Amino acid sequence: MNTDGDHCVLRWCQEAGIHQTHRQYVASINAGGRRANMIGVNLIQDDRPDATFLVEITSTRAPLTSLALVPGAAADMAQAIATTAESALNHQAQHMQTKDEPHLTSQ
Ligand SMILES: [Zn+2]
Repeated sequence: MNTDGDHCVLRWCQEAGIHQTHRQYVASINAGGRRANMIGVNLIQDDRPDATFLVEITSTRAPLTSLALVPGAAADMAQAIATTAESALNHQAQHMQTKDEPHLTSQ
């Protein structure tokens, strides 16, 4: 793809220099945990005519393993993540209650 100096000719693309995949960095999320792990959510498109736009998910913990999803799958995944996150928060809340019980009953 031709670049205009440092900037890609595609206005939405944020890659600089020569690149095979156009990319817009949409979100960067701190995944937490003991080791730093930043999750990136990017909009990507291969530099081919009529190439499909994909949602790319990257991780600084596994830099060589990224996911590229068609938009429908990405939307399904977002829903699944939201549902699972809610479940995790509920389990966490129940776990906290269970941990607190001995204190409550012993007092
Ligand atoms: Zn580009």
